[in-house]
Amino acid sequence: MNAIDVTGLKKSYGQLEAVRGIDLAIASGEIFALLGPNGAGKTTTVEILEGFRTRDSGKVAVLGFDPSGGGLASRQWRNRIGIVLQSTSDAGDLTVIETIKHFHGYYSNPRGVDEVINSVGLDEKANSLIRKLSGGQRRRLDVALGIIGNPELLFLDEPTTGFDPQARRSFWSLIRQLRQSGTTILLTTHYLDEAEALADRVGVINNGQIVEISTPTDLGGRASAKAVVSWRDGDEIKSEATANPTAVINRLNSQFNGEIPELTVIRPSLEDIYLKMIGAEHE
Ligand code: ATP
Repeated sequence: MNAIDVTGLKKSYGQLEAVRGIDLAIASGEIFALLGPNGAGKTTTVEILEGFRTRDSGKVAVLGFDPSGGGLASRQWRNRIGIVLQSTSDAGDLTVIETIKHFHGYYSNPRGVDEVINSVGLDEKANSLIRKLSGGQRRRLDVALGIIGNPELLFLDEPTTGFDPQARRSFWSLIRQLRQSGTTILLTTHYLDEAEALADRVGVINNGQIVEISTPTDLGGRASAKAVVSWRDGDEIKSEATANPTAVINRLNSQFNGEIPELTVIRPSLEDIYLKMIGAEHE
C-alpha cells in the first residue's frame, strides 16, 4: 500500500486555482521532495494531506485514510503522522524540554524525550526558554516536535530554513536515520541540494500542476544532458558542450600531450535543470 495516494486534487481560493489537478503516489518508506517556486501550490497540497485544509475535488488517501474525515479514526490517524509546518507557533514561556515532554504526552508510542533532543542537536539548550532560542534553534525544536510521536509518515515543510550549514548536514543524517527505520517522508524545500541529498524521488510543481516526477538524477533528462568541458588554451578559456566528454578529453590529451590546463567537466546541477523546467533560467 502507498503511504500517500492522490488523484485529481483541486483547490481554489476564490478565483485563484492554487492546485489544478494533482496526481501523486508516494510509496511507504520513500522520501519524496516536492519542489516548486513560491506560490506553486506546495503548502496547499501538503496541508490538504495533513487534514488542515479542505479540498474542492479529487481523491486523497494518507496512510489509507481520507484526511477530511473526522472522529476517532482521525485521532488515531493523527497519532501516526508527524508534521513540521512552515511557520512556527508561539511557545510562550516554556523551556525546550518542557515543550517536548508536553508533546510526548500526546502520543501512544513516542520516542524518548532525551533521544529526540539529542538527535536535533539541542542538548545544550534543553533548559532554555523557547523565546530565547535563535531562529535556527527554534526550527530544530519544530523538527523535534514533528518526530517525537515516532511517526510512520512525516511531513516536513521547508524544514531547514534558517539552519547553518552544519545544522543542515546533521539534519540530513537524522532524516536518513528515520528512513532506515522505515519512516515515509514528504518534504518541501527550496534547497535543491537538500532534495538531491535526501529524496528518492522529486516532484516539480508549478502553477498548481505537476510538471514532472522523477529521481533527482533523471529529472528533466539530466542523466543524458550534455556536459561542458572547459580548459585553458593560451590566454583563452575554451569550452565545449558535449554528450561524450571522454572523447573531448582524449582529443585534448593528444593536443596538449600531457596535463590539460585548468580542465573541468561540469554537468548540469539539479538546480540548473529545475530552473529550466519552471522557466526561470533567465531570471
Ligand atoms: P511557498 O514556496 O511560497 O511556500 P507554495 O508552493 O507553498 O509557496 P501555496 O502556499 O500553496 O504555495 O500557495 C498557492 C497559491 O494559493 C498562492 O498564489 C497563494 O497566494 C494562494 N493561497 C494560499 N493560501 C491561501 C489562502 N488561505 N487564501 C487565499 N489564497 C491563498
